[in-house]
Amino acid sequence: MGNSSTPRGESLPAFRNEPYVDSSTEANRASMLDALARVRGEFGREYQLWIGGEGVKAEAKLSSLNPSHPDEVVGVHQKATGELAAKAVESAFAFYPEWRHTSAELRAHMLLRAARILRERKLEFDAWLVHEAGKTWPEAEADVSEAIDFCEYYAREMLRYSLPPAVVQLPGERDELRYLPMGVGVIIPPWNFPLAILAGMTTAALVAGNTVVIKPSSDTPTIAAKFVEVLLQAGFPPRSFEFLTGSGAVVGDVLVGHPLTRFVSFTGSREVGLRINELAAKPHPRQRWIKRVVAEMGGKDAIIVDETADLDAAVTGVSASAYGYQGQKCSACSRLIVVRKVHDDFLARLQAKVETLRVGPSEDPDNYMGPVINASAVNSILGYIAIGRKEGRVITGGQRAPGDGYFIQPTIIDGVNRKAHVFQEEIFGPVLAVTAARDFGHALELANDTEYGLTGAVFSRDRARIEKARETFFAGNLYFNRKCTGAMVGAHPFGGFNMSGTDSKAGGPDYLLQFLQAQSIAEKV
Ligand code: NAD
Repeated sequence: MGNSSTPRGESLPAFRNEPYVDSSTEANRASMLDALARVRGEFGREYQLWIGGEGVKAEAKLSSLNPSHPDEVVGVHQKATGELAAKAVESAFAFYPEWRHTSAELRAHMLLRAARILRERKLEFDAWLVHEAGKTWPEAEADVSEAIDFCEYYAREMLRYSLPPAVVQLPGERDELRYLPMGVGVIIPPWNFPLAILAGMTTAALVAGNTVVIKPSSDTPTIAAKFVEVLLQAGFPPRSFEFLTGSGAVVGDVLVGHPLTRFVSFTGSREVGLRINELAAKPHPRQRWIKRVVAEMGGKDAIIVDETADLDAAVTGVSASAYGYQGQKCSACSRLIVVRKVHDDFLARLQAKVETLRVGPSEDPDNYMGPVINASAVNSILGYIAIGRKEGRVITGGQRAPGDGYFIQPTIIDGVNRKAHVFQEEIFGPVLAVTAARDFGHALELANDTEYGLTGAVFSRDRARIEKARETFFAGNLYFNRKCTGAMVGAHPFGGFNMSGTDSKAGGPDYLLQFLQAQSIAEKV
Protein backbone atom coordinates (compact mmCIF):
# COMPACT_ATOMS: atom_id res chain seq x y z
CA MET A 1 0.00 0.00 0.00
CA GLY A 2 1.40 3.42 -0.89
CA ASN A 3 0.81 6.75 0.82
CA SER A 4 -2.82 7.19 1.76
CA SER A 5 -4.41 10.50 2.43
CA THR A 6 -7.48 11.55 4.33
CA PRO A 7 -10.45 12.91 2.37
CA ARG A 8 -9.27 16.38 3.41
CA GLY A 9 -5.96 15.71 1.77
CA GLU A 10 -3.72 15.26 4.83
CA SER A 11 -1.33 12.52 4.01
CA LEU A 12 -0.44 9.65 6.28
CA PRO A 13 2.92 7.94 6.03
CA ALA A 14 2.78 4.61 4.19
CA PHE A 15 1.92 1.68 6.42
CA ARG A 16 4.86 -0.15 7.94
CA ASN A 17 4.90 -3.01 10.40
CA GLU A 18 5.48 -2.14 14.02
CA PRO A 19 9.08 -2.94 15.03
CA TYR A 20 9.55 -5.44 17.87
CA VAL A 21 11.08 -4.37 21.16
CA ASP A 22 14.42 -6.15 21.46
CA SER A 23 14.30 -7.74 24.89
CA SER A 24 17.93 -8.88 24.74
CA THR A 25 19.19 -5.43 25.77
CA GLU A 26 19.64 -4.88 29.51
CA ALA A 27 17.42 -1.80 29.57
CA ASN A 28 14.50 -3.43 27.71
CA ARG A 29 14.79 -6.55 29.80
CA ALA A 30 14.59 -4.48 32.97
CA SER A 31 11.55 -2.58 31.64
CA MET A 32 9.78 -5.83 30.79
CA LEU A 33 10.50 -7.31 34.22
CA ASP A 34 9.08 -4.14 35.71
CA ALA A 35 5.94 -4.40 33.51
CA LEU A 36 5.46 -8.04 34.53
CA ALA A 37 5.66 -7.07 38.21
CA ARG A 38 3.29 -4.11 37.79
CA VAL A 39 0.70 -6.24 35.98
CA ARG A 40 1.03 -8.94 38.60
CA GLY A 41 0.13 -6.24 41.14
CA GLU A 42 -3.27 -5.96 39.39
CA PHE A 43 -4.06 -9.68 39.59
CA GLY A 44 -7.47 -10.57 40.97
CA ARG A 45 -9.15 -7.28 40.06
CA GLU A 46 -12.81 -7.43 39.05
CA TYR A 47 -13.92 -6.16 35.64
CA GLN A 48 -17.39 -5.22 34.47
CA LEU A 49 -19.47 -5.78 31.38
CA TRP A 50 -19.95 -2.71 29.20
CA ILE A 51 -23.53 -2.34 28.01
CA GLY A 52 -25.24 0.83 26.78
CA GLY A 53 -22.18 2.92 27.61
CA GLU A 54 -21.82 1.90 31.23
CA GLY A 55 -20.26 -0.74 33.45
CA VAL A 56 -22.66 -3.52 34.43
CA LYS A 57 -22.28 -6.41 36.87
CA ALA A 58 -23.82 -9.86 36.64
CA GLU A 59 -24.60 -12.22 39.50
CA ALA A 60 -22.24 -15.00 38.46
CA LYS A 61 -18.50 -14.50 37.93
CA LEU A 62 -15.76 -16.26 36.04
CA SER A 63 -12.05 -16.14 36.79
CA SER A 64 -9.20 -16.22 34.33
CA LEU A 65 -6.09 -18.06 35.49
CA ASN A 66 -2.38 -17.80 34.82
CA PRO A 67 -1.64 -21.01 32.87
CA SER A 68 1.98 -20.96 34.10
CA HIS A 69 0.70 -20.90 37.73
CA PRO A 70 -2.96 -21.96 37.69
CA ASP A 71 -3.45 -21.12 41.37
CA GLU A 72 -3.14 -17.43 40.41
CA VAL A 73 -6.32 -15.60 39.42
CA VAL A 74 -5.49 -12.98 36.79
CA GLY A 75 -8.91 -11.35 36.55
CA VAL A 76 -12.45 -11.78 37.86
CA HIS A 77 -15.12 -11.19 35.24
CA GLN A 78 -18.88 -11.11 34.96
CA LYS A 79 -20.72 -14.08 33.54
CA ALA A 80 -23.31 -12.40 31.34
CA THR A 81 -26.75 -13.94 30.98
CA GLY A 82 -28.72 -14.39 27.77
CA GLU A 83 -30.87 -11.35 28.74
CA LEU A 84 -27.79 -9.15 29.06
CA ALA A 85 -26.53 -10.43 25.70
CA ALA A 86 -29.81 -9.44 24.04
CA LYS A 87 -29.65 -6.04 25.74
CA ALA A 88 -26.14 -5.52 24.36
CA VAL A 89 -27.28 -6.20 20.78
CA GLU A 90 -30.27 -3.88 21.20
CA SER A 91 -28.12 -1.12 22.62
CA ALA A 92 -25.58 -1.45 19.77
CA PHE A 93 -28.47 -1.30 17.30
CA ALA A 94 -29.86 1.86 18.90
CA PHE A 95 -26.54 3.68 18.57
CA TYR A 96 -25.78 2.47 15.04
CA PRO A 97 -27.60 5.31 13.17
CA GLU A 98 -25.48 7.87 15.01
CA TRP A 99 -22.17 6.02 14.60
CA ARG A 100 -22.64 5.22 10.92
CA HIS A 101 -22.98 8.93 10.19
CA THR A 102 -19.66 9.90 11.73
CA SER A 103 -17.09 10.50 9.01
CA ALA A 104 -14.70 7.78 7.95
CA GLU A 105 -11.92 10.27 8.61
CA LEU A 106 -12.94 10.70 12.23
CA ARG A 107 -13.24 6.95 12.75
CA ALA A 108 -9.85 6.36 11.14
CA HIS A 109 -8.28 8.94 13.43
CA MET A 110 -9.71 7.21 16.49
CA LEU A 111 -8.06 4.04 15.24
CA LEU A 112 -4.71 5.74 14.77
CA ARG A 113 -5.04 7.05 18.34
CA ALA A 114 -5.74 3.50 19.54
CA ALA A 115 -2.50 2.40 17.80
CA ARG A 116 -0.60 5.16 19.59
CA ILE A 117 -2.01 4.19 22.97
CA LEU A 118 -1.15 0.51 22.42
CA ARG A 119 2.36 1.57 21.46
CA GLU A 120 2.68 3.60 24.67
CA ARG A 121 1.32 0.70 26.75
CA LYS A 122 3.13 -2.00 24.79
CA LEU A 123 5.10 -3.64 27.58
CA GLU A 124 2.07 -3.59 29.84
CA PHE A 125 0.08 -5.47 27.17
CA ASP A 126 3.02 -7.82 26.60
CA ALA A 127 2.92 -8.59 30.31
CA TRP A 128 -0.83 -9.30 30.32
CA LEU A 129 -0.30 -11.74 27.44
CA VAL A 130 2.53 -13.48 29.31
CA HIS A 131 0.43 -13.84 32.46
CA GLU A 132 -3.03 -14.59 31.06
CA ALA A 133 -2.31 -16.37 27.76
CA GLY A 134 0.99 -18.06 28.66
CA LYS A 135 2.88 -16.33 25.84
CA THR A 136 6.66 -16.10 26.05
CA TRP A 137 8.09 -12.59 25.75
CA PRO A 138 8.73 -12.69 21.99
CA GLU A 139 5.33 -14.26 21.27
CA ALA A 140 3.60 -11.60 23.38
CA GLU A 141 5.54 -8.85 21.63
CA ALA A 142 4.50 -10.21 18.22
CA ASP A 143 0.83 -10.31 19.30
CA VAL A 144 0.79 -6.71 20.54
CA SER A 145 2.71 -5.48 17.50
CA GLU A 146 0.18 -7.16 15.23
CA ALA A 147 -2.68 -5.45 17.07
CA ILE A 148 -0.98 -2.09 16.43
CA ASP A 149 -0.49 -3.07 12.77
CA PHE A 150 -4.18 -3.86 12.36
CA CYS A 151 -5.16 -0.44 13.75
CA GLU A 152 -2.71 1.39 11.49
CA TYR A 153 -3.58 -0.69 8.42
CA TYR A 154 -7.38 -0.59 8.73
CA ALA A 155 -7.36 3.16 9.40
CA ARG A 156 -5.64 3.67 6.04
CA GLU A 157 -7.89 1.12 4.35
CA MET A 158 -11.03 2.90 5.56
CA LEU A 159 -9.79 6.16 4.12
CA ARG A 160 -9.26 4.37 0.82
CA TYR A 161 -12.77 2.84 0.83
CA SER A 162 -14.31 6.19 1.72
CA LEU A 163 -13.26 7.57 -1.68
CA PRO A 164 -15.70 6.37 -4.34
CA PRO A 165 -14.05 3.98 -6.81
CA ALA A 166 -14.23 4.80 -10.52
CA VAL A 167 -17.21 3.23 -12.34
CA VAL A 168 -18.23 3.49 -16.01
CA GLN A 169 -20.19 6.69 -16.65
CA LEU A 170 -23.15 6.01 -18.95
CA PRO A 171 -24.11 8.84 -21.29
CA GLY A 172 -26.64 11.10 -19.58
CA GLU A 173 -26.03 9.69 -16.11
CA ARG A 174 -23.84 10.31 -13.11
CA ASP A 175 -22.88 6.85 -11.87
CA GLU A 176 -21.43 6.14 -8.48
CA LEU A 177 -20.47 3.27 -6.19
CA ARG A 178 -20.02 3.78 -2.48
CA TYR A 179 -19.44 1.59 0.54
CA LEU A 180 -21.81 1.66 3.51
CA PRO A 181 -21.52 0.02 6.91
CA MET A 182 -23.87 -2.84 7.70
CA GLY A 183 -25.19 -2.60 11.28
CA VAL A 184 -24.47 -4.51 14.47
CA GLY A 185 -21.59 -6.97 14.35
CA VAL A 186 -20.90 -9.67 16.91
CA ILE A 187 -17.16 -10.15 17.42
CA ILE A 188 -16.09 -13.55 18.73
CA PRO A 189 -12.30 -14.04 18.96
CA PRO A 190 -10.30 -17.02 20.27
CA TRP A 191 -7.85 -16.99 23.20
CA ASN A 192 -4.72 -17.72 21.19
CA PHE A 193 -4.21 -14.22 19.76
CA PRO A 194 -6.27 -12.59 22.49
CA LEU A 195 -5.16 -9.08 21.61
CA ALA A 196 -4.29 -9.12 17.89
CA ILE A 197 -7.33 -11.04 16.62
CA LEU A 198 -9.71 -9.34 19.03
CA ALA A 199 -8.37 -5.91 18.09
CA GLY A 200 -8.25 -6.69 14.36
CA MET A 201 -11.82 -7.96 14.10
CA THR A 202 -13.18 -5.21 16.37
CA THR A 203 -11.42 -2.26 14.78
CA ALA A 204 -12.13 -3.36 11.21
CA ALA A 205 -15.85 -3.48 12.02
CA LEU A 206 -15.84 -0.19 13.95
CA VAL A 207 -13.79 1.82 11.47
CA ALA A 208 -16.17 0.71 8.73
CA GLY A 209 -19.01 2.38 10.69
CA ASN A 210 -20.61 -0.61 12.37
CA THR A 211 -21.34 -0.90 16.08
CA VAL A 212 -20.13 -4.10 17.74
CA VAL A 213 -20.72 -6.49 20.60
CA ILE A 214 -17.36 -7.94 21.68
CA LYS A 215 -17.49 -11.39 23.28
CA PRO A 216 -13.94 -12.46 24.21
CA SER A 217 -12.80 -15.95 25.11
CA SER A 218 -13.33 -16.91 28.76
CA ASP A 219 -9.62 -17.84 28.97
CA THR A 220 -8.40 -14.33 28.15
CA PRO A 221 -11.05 -11.79 29.21
CA THR A 222 -8.65 -9.47 31.07
CA ILE A 223 -6.62 -8.70 27.96
CA ALA A 224 -9.92 -7.93 26.21
CA ALA A 225 -11.06 -5.66 29.07
CA LYS A 226 -7.76 -3.78 28.79
CA PHE A 227 -8.34 -3.30 25.07
CA VAL A 228 -11.77 -1.87 25.82
CA GLU A 229 -9.98 0.74 27.97
CA VAL A 230 -7.88 1.60 24.92
CA LEU A 231 -10.97 2.07 22.73
CA LEU A 232 -12.41 4.51 25.27
CA GLN A 233 -9.09 6.31 25.68
CA ALA A 234 -8.84 6.61 21.90
CA GLY A 235 -12.17 8.44 21.80
CA PHE A 236 -14.51 5.74 20.47
CA PRO A 237 -17.94 6.72 21.81
CA PRO A 238 -18.93 4.64 24.85
CA ARG A 239 -21.97 3.35 22.96
CA SER A 240 -20.17 2.33 19.76
CA PHE A 241 -19.26 -1.01 21.33
CA GLU A 242 -20.55 -3.41 23.97
CA PHE A 243 -18.35 -5.76 25.97
CA LEU A 244 -19.75 -9.04 27.15
CA THR A 245 -17.83 -11.72 29.03
CA GLY A 246 -19.42 -15.06 29.79
CA SER A 247 -19.80 -18.57 28.55
CA GLY A 248 -19.57 -18.76 24.75
CA ALA A 249 -22.26 -21.41 24.71
CA VAL A 250 -24.71 -19.38 26.86
CA VAL A 251 -24.41 -15.91 25.36
CA GLY A 252 -23.12 -17.04 21.93
CA ASP A 253 -26.44 -18.40 20.69
CA VAL A 254 -28.30 -15.27 21.80
CA LEU A 255 -25.82 -12.94 20.11
CA VAL A 256 -25.67 -14.92 16.87
CA GLY A 257 -29.38 -15.66 16.72
CA HIS A 258 -30.62 -12.17 17.61
CA PRO A 259 -32.69 -10.67 14.77
CA LEU A 260 -30.91 -7.32 15.07
CA THR A 261 -27.47 -8.88 14.58
CA ARG A 262 -26.36 -8.04 11.04
CA PHE A 263 -23.07 -9.96 10.91
CA VAL A 264 -20.84 -12.22 12.95
CA SER A 265 -17.07 -12.08 12.82
CA PHE A 266 -15.74 -15.26 14.37
CA THR A 267 -12.28 -16.77 14.74
CA GLY A 268 -11.98 -20.08 16.53
CA SER A 269 -12.54 -23.77 16.15
CA ARG A 270 -14.18 -25.52 13.22
CA GLU A 271 -16.86 -26.96 15.48
CA VAL A 272 -18.02 -23.61 16.88
CA GLY A 273 -17.60 -21.81 13.54
CA LEU A 274 -19.86 -24.27 11.74
CA ARG A 275 -22.45 -24.03 14.50
CA ILE A 276 -22.45 -20.24 14.25
CA ASN A 277 -22.78 -20.45 10.48
CA GLU A 278 -25.79 -22.73 10.79
CA LEU A 279 -27.51 -20.69 13.49
CA ALA A 280 -26.92 -17.42 11.65
CA ALA A 281 -28.48 -18.86 8.49
CA LYS A 282 -31.85 -19.36 10.21
CA PRO A 283 -34.02 -16.26 9.72
CA HIS A 284 -35.99 -14.93 12.66
CA PRO A 285 -39.53 -13.53 12.18
CA ARG A 286 -38.37 -9.93 12.91
CA GLN A 287 -35.22 -10.23 10.81
CA ARG A 288 -34.77 -8.15 7.63
CA TRP A 289 -31.44 -9.43 6.29
CA ILE A 290 -29.33 -12.46 5.59
CA LYS A 291 -26.67 -12.40 8.29
CA ARG A 292 -23.14 -12.36 7.04
CA VAL A 293 -20.72 -14.75 8.74
CA VAL A 294 -16.98 -14.38 8.58
CA ALA A 295 -15.59 -17.54 10.16
CA GLU A 296 -11.86 -18.20 10.38
CA MET A 297 -11.32 -21.64 11.80
CA GLY A 298 -8.79 -24.39 12.45
CA GLY A 299 -5.82 -25.78 10.59
CA LYS A 300 -3.79 -28.93 10.13
CA ASP A 301 -0.90 -27.24 8.46
CA ALA A 302 1.86 -29.13 6.66
CA ILE A 303 5.50 -28.46 5.92
CA ILE A 304 7.21 -30.42 3.14
CA VAL A 305 10.97 -30.98 3.25
CA ASP A 306 12.58 -32.49 0.16
CA GLU A 307 16.04 -33.90 -0.53
CA THR A 308 17.29 -30.66 -2.12
CA ALA A 309 16.37 -28.50 0.89
CA ASP A 310 18.76 -26.60 3.13
CA LEU A 311 18.16 -28.94 6.04
CA ASP A 312 19.45 -26.54 8.72
CA ALA A 313 17.02 -23.86 7.56
CA ALA A 314 14.27 -26.48 7.47
CA VAL A 315 15.01 -27.59 11.04
CA THR A 316 14.77 -23.99 12.23
CA GLY A 317 11.56 -23.36 10.27
CA VAL A 318 9.80 -26.57 11.30
CA SER A 319 10.77 -26.20 14.95
CA ALA A 320 9.55 -22.59 15.13
CA SER A 321 6.32 -23.45 13.27
CA ALA A 322 5.51 -26.51 15.36
CA TYR A 323 6.50 -25.32 18.84
CA GLY A 324 6.24 -21.52 18.89
CA TYR A 325 3.50 -20.67 21.42
CA GLN A 326 3.38 -24.38 22.23
CA GLY A 327 1.87 -25.19 18.83
CA GLN A 328 -1.27 -23.23 19.70
CA LYS A 329 -1.47 -21.24 16.48
CA CYS A 330 -3.98 -21.95 13.74
CA SER A 331 -0.99 -21.60 11.41
CA ALA A 332 1.22 -24.03 13.39
CA CYS A 333 2.91 -26.87 11.56
CA SER A 334 1.32 -30.05 12.87
CA ARG A 335 2.09 -32.28 9.87
CA LEU A 336 5.64 -32.78 8.65
CA ILE A 337 6.12 -34.54 5.31
CA VAL A 338 9.71 -35.51 4.53
CA VAL A 339 10.86 -37.02 1.26
CA ARG A 340 12.13 -40.49 2.16
CA LYS A 341 15.69 -39.95 0.95
CA VAL A 342 16.36 -37.38 3.72
CA HIS A 343 13.84 -38.58 6.27
CA ASP A 344 16.26 -40.21 8.73
CA ASP A 345 18.88 -37.48 8.51
CA PHE A 346 16.33 -34.69 8.84
CA LEU A 347 14.45 -36.29 11.73
CA ALA A 348 17.70 -36.83 13.65
CA ARG A 349 18.59 -33.16 13.25
CA LEU A 350 15.08 -32.01 14.14
CA GLN A 351 14.96 -34.22 17.22
CA ALA A 352 18.31 -32.84 18.41
CA LYS A 353 16.99 -29.29 18.04
CA VAL A 354 13.65 -30.01 19.72
CA GLU A 355 15.38 -31.57 22.70
CA THR A 356 17.10 -28.24 23.38
CA LEU A 357 13.78 -26.35 23.72
CA ARG A 358 13.22 -25.30 27.32
CA VAL A 359 9.68 -25.51 28.68
CA GLY A 360 8.48 -23.64 31.75
CA PRO A 361 6.75 -20.51 33.08
CA SER A 362 6.35 -17.97 30.31
CA GLU A 363 7.48 -15.03 32.46
CA ASP A 364 11.00 -16.53 32.48
CA PRO A 365 12.64 -15.35 29.24
CA ASP A 366 14.94 -18.39 29.20
CA ASN A 367 11.98 -20.63 28.41
CA TYR A 368 11.27 -21.12 24.72
CA MET A 369 7.88 -22.71 25.41
CA GLY A 370 5.36 -21.77 28.09
CA PRO A 371 2.21 -23.60 29.18
CA VAL A 372 -0.77 -24.64 27.09
CA ILE A 373 -3.87 -22.62 27.83
CA ASN A 374 -5.83 -24.67 30.37
CA ALA A 375 -6.41 -28.03 32.05
CA SER A 376 -8.77 -29.25 29.37
CA ALA A 377 -6.15 -28.50 26.69
CA VAL A 378 -3.66 -30.62 28.68
CA ASN A 379 -6.11 -33.53 28.74
CA SER A 380 -6.98 -33.24 25.09
CA ILE A 381 -3.34 -32.99 23.95
CA LEU A 382 -2.23 -35.91 26.14
CA GLY A 383 -5.20 -37.87 24.77
CA TYR A 384 -3.94 -37.27 21.23
CA ILE A 385 -0.42 -38.27 22.24
CA ALA A 386 -1.83 -41.55 23.59
CA ILE A 387 -3.56 -42.14 20.24
CA GLY A 388 -0.32 -41.18 18.48
CA ARG A 389 1.60 -43.87 20.39
CA LYS A 390 -0.63 -46.41 18.63
CA GLU A 391 -0.54 -44.67 15.28
CA GLY A 392 3.22 -44.06 15.14
CA ARG A 393 6.36 -43.80 17.25
CA VAL A 394 6.91 -41.00 19.78
CA ILE A 395 10.57 -40.16 19.21
CA THR A 396 10.76 -37.29 21.64
CA GLY A 397 8.51 -35.70 24.28
CA GLY A 398 5.12 -37.25 24.91
CA GLN A 399 4.80 -36.25 28.58
CA ARG A 400 3.88 -33.34 30.79
CA ALA A 401 6.89 -31.18 31.56
CA PRO A 402 7.77 -30.46 35.22
CA GLY A 403 6.07 -27.62 37.11
CA ASP A 404 2.60 -26.70 38.37
CA GLY A 405 1.63 -25.04 35.11
CA TYR A 406 0.07 -26.63 32.07
CA PHE A 407 3.40 -27.66 30.57
CA ILE A 408 3.74 -30.29 27.85
CA GLN A 409 6.99 -31.43 26.27
CA PRO A 410 7.51 -30.72 22.59
CA THR A 411 6.56 -33.98 20.95
CA ILE A 412 7.36 -35.67 17.63
CA ILE A 413 5.37 -38.69 16.46
CA ASP A 414 7.05 -40.31 13.49
CA GLY A 415 5.85 -42.96 11.06
CA VAL A 416 2.14 -42.15 11.05
CA ASN A 417 0.00 -42.85 8.02
CA ARG A 418 -2.00 -40.24 6.11
CA LYS A 419 -5.36 -41.20 7.64
CA ALA A 420 -4.09 -41.30 11.24
CA HIS A 421 -6.06 -39.18 13.72
CA VAL A 422 -2.88 -37.31 14.66
CA PHE A 423 -2.29 -36.54 10.98
CA GLN A 424 -5.84 -35.37 10.25
CA GLU A 425 -7.26 -33.71 13.37
CA GLU A 426 -6.26 -30.38 14.86
CA ILE A 427 -4.51 -31.09 18.19
CA PHE A 428 -3.62 -27.47 19.01
CA GLY A 429 -0.59 -28.26 21.11
CA PRO A 430 3.14 -29.00 20.74
CA VAL A 431 2.66 -32.22 18.80
CA LEU A 432 4.11 -32.83 15.36
CA ALA A 433 3.00 -35.85 13.30
CA VAL A 434 5.51 -37.00 10.70
CA THR A 435 5.23 -39.11 7.60
CA ALA A 436 7.69 -40.00 4.84
CA ALA A 437 6.83 -39.41 1.17
CA ARG A 438 8.14 -41.44 -1.76
CA ASP A 439 9.00 -38.30 -3.72
CA PHE A 440 7.99 -34.65 -4.04
CA GLY A 441 4.78 -35.38 -5.99
CA HIS A 442 3.68 -37.79 -3.28
CA ALA A 443 4.56 -35.18 -0.63
CA LEU A 444 2.21 -32.65 -2.26
CA GLU A 445 -0.53 -35.25 -2.46
CA LEU A 446 -0.16 -35.93 1.28
CA ALA A 447 -0.11 -32.21 2.09
CA ASN A 448 -3.43 -31.70 0.27
CA ASP A 449 -5.06 -34.72 1.90
CA THR A 450 -6.86 -32.69 4.56
CA GLU A 451 -10.19 -30.98 4.98
CA TYR A 452 -8.36 -27.87 6.18
CA GLY A 453 -6.34 -25.43 4.09
CA LEU A 454 -4.88 -22.66 6.20
CA THR A 455 -1.08 -22.48 5.92
CA GLY A 456 1.63 -24.61 4.39
CA ALA A 457 5.33 -24.43 3.59
CA VAL A 458 7.86 -26.13 1.36
CA PHE A 459 11.60 -26.35 1.93
CA SER A 460 13.27 -27.10 -1.42
CA ARG A 461 16.00 -25.65 -3.60
CA ASP A 462 14.44 -27.03 -6.78
CA ARG A 463 12.80 -24.21 -8.74
CA ALA A 464 10.52 -26.50 -10.78
CA ARG A 465 9.19 -28.10 -7.60
CA ILE A 466 8.58 -24.73 -5.98
CA GLU A 467 6.58 -23.73 -9.05
CA LYS A 468 4.64 -26.99 -8.93
CA ALA A 469 3.81 -26.40 -5.26
CA ARG A 470 2.79 -22.82 -6.05
CA GLU A 471 0.19 -24.24 -8.45
CA THR A 472 -1.04 -27.21 -6.45
CA PHE A 473 -0.46 -26.79 -2.69
CA PHE A 474 -3.96 -25.70 -1.64
CA ALA A 475 -3.50 -23.44 1.38
CA GLY A 476 -4.66 -19.88 2.01
CA ASN A 477 -1.16 -18.84 3.16
CA LEU A 478 1.67 -20.61 1.39
CA TYR A 479 5.35 -20.11 2.21
CA PHE A 480 8.60 -21.26 0.60
CA ASN A 481 11.83 -21.86 2.47
CA ARG A 482 10.55 -20.24 5.66
CA LYS A 483 8.28 -21.06 8.59
CA CYS A 484 4.51 -21.27 8.07
CA THR A 485 3.65 -19.09 11.10
CA GLY A 486 4.13 -15.38 11.69
CA ALA A 487 1.98 -13.80 8.96
CA MET A 488 2.62 -10.05 8.84
CA VAL A 489 -0.15 -7.49 8.36
CA GLY A 490 0.01 -5.99 4.88
CA ALA A 491 2.51 -8.53 3.54
CA HIS A 492 0.66 -11.80 4.20
CA PRO A 493 -3.13 -11.24 4.25
CA PHE A 494 -4.39 -14.11 6.37
CA GLY A 495 -7.23 -16.60 5.92
CA GLY A 496 -7.80 -20.23 5.06
CA PHE A 497 -9.42 -22.43 2.42
CA ASN A 498 -11.91 -25.28 2.86
CA MET A 499 -12.78 -26.02 6.52
CA SER A 500 -10.19 -23.48 7.65
CA GLY A 501 -12.68 -20.73 6.99
CA THR A 502 -14.12 -18.08 4.76
CA ASP A 503 -10.71 -16.83 3.61
CA SER A 504 -11.37 -13.27 4.71
CA LYS A 505 -7.68 -12.31 4.47
CA ALA A 506 -7.21 -10.27 7.64
CA GLY A 507 -4.55 -7.59 7.24
CA GLY A 508 -5.12 -7.41 3.49
CA PRO A 509 -6.71 -4.98 1.04
CA ASP A 510 -9.99 -6.96 0.77
CA TYR A 511 -10.63 -7.36 4.49
CA LEU A 512 -12.77 -4.29 5.15
CA LEU A 513 -15.21 -5.45 2.45
CA GLN A 514 -16.39 -8.06 4.97
CA PHE A 515 -17.77 -5.19 7.05
CA LEU A 516 -19.19 -3.02 4.27
CA GLN A 517 -21.99 -3.22 1.71
CA ALA A 518 -21.71 -1.51 -1.64
CA GLN A 519 -24.43 0.76 -3.02
CA SER A 520 -24.69 1.77 -6.68
CA ILE A 521 -26.35 5.13 -7.40
CA ALA A 522 -27.27 6.44 -10.86
CA GLU A 523 -28.65 9.92 -11.44
CA LYS A 524 -30.05 11.15 -14.76
CA VAL A 525 -28.36 14.42 -15.69
P1 NAD B 1 -13.35 -21.91 20.22
O1 NAD B 1 -14.09 -22.19 18.97
O2 NAD B 1 -13.50 -22.86 21.33
O3 NAD B 1 -13.77 -20.48 20.78
C1 NAD B 1 -13.69 -19.32 20.01
C2 NAD B 1 -14.65 -18.29 20.55
O4 NAD B 1 -15.97 -18.77 20.38
C3 NAD B 1 -14.47 -18.02 22.03
O5 NAD B 1 -14.66 -16.63 22.27
C4 NAD B 1 -15.62 -18.82 22.65
O6 NAD B 1 -16.04 -18.30 23.89
C5 NAD B 1 -16.69 -18.65 21.61
N1 NAD B 1 -17.75 -19.66 21.62
C6 NAD B 1 -17.71 -20.91 22.12
N2 NAD B 1 -18.91 -21.53 21.92
C7 NAD B 1 -19.69 -20.65 21.27
C8 NAD B 1 -21.02 -20.70 20.76
N3 NAD B 1 -21.79 -21.77 20.87
N4 NAD B 1 -21.50 -19.58 20.12
C9 NAD B 1 -20.74 -18.49 19.97
N5 NAD B 1 -19.47 -18.39 20.44
C10 NAD B 1 -18.95 -19.46 21.08
O7 NAD B 1 -11.81 -21.73 19.81
P2 NAD B 1 -10.58 -21.39 20.77
O8 NAD B 1 -10.24 -22.60 21.56
O9 NAD B 1 -10.82 -20.12 21.48
O10 NAD B 1 -9.43 -21.11 19.70
C11 NAD B 1 -8.68 -22.11 19.10
C12 NAD B 1 -9.21 -22.38 17.70
O11 NAD B 1 -9.18 -21.18 16.93
C13 NAD B 1 -8.34 -23.35 16.92
O12 NAD B 1 -9.18 -24.22 16.21
C14 NAD B 1 -7.56 -22.45 15.97
O13 NAD B 1 -7.10 -23.09 14.81
C15 NAD B 1 -8.57 -21.41 15.67
N6 NAD B 1 -7.96 -20.18 15.18
C16 NAD B 1 -8.11 -19.88 13.86
C17 NAD B 1 -7.51 -18.73 13.36
C18 NAD B 1 -7.65 -18.37 11.91
O14 NAD B 1 -7.33 -17.24 11.55
N7 NAD B 1 -8.10 -19.27 11.06
C19 NAD B 1 -6.77 -17.91 14.19
C20 NAD B 1 -6.65 -18.25 15.54
C21 NAD B 1 -7.26 -19.39 16.03
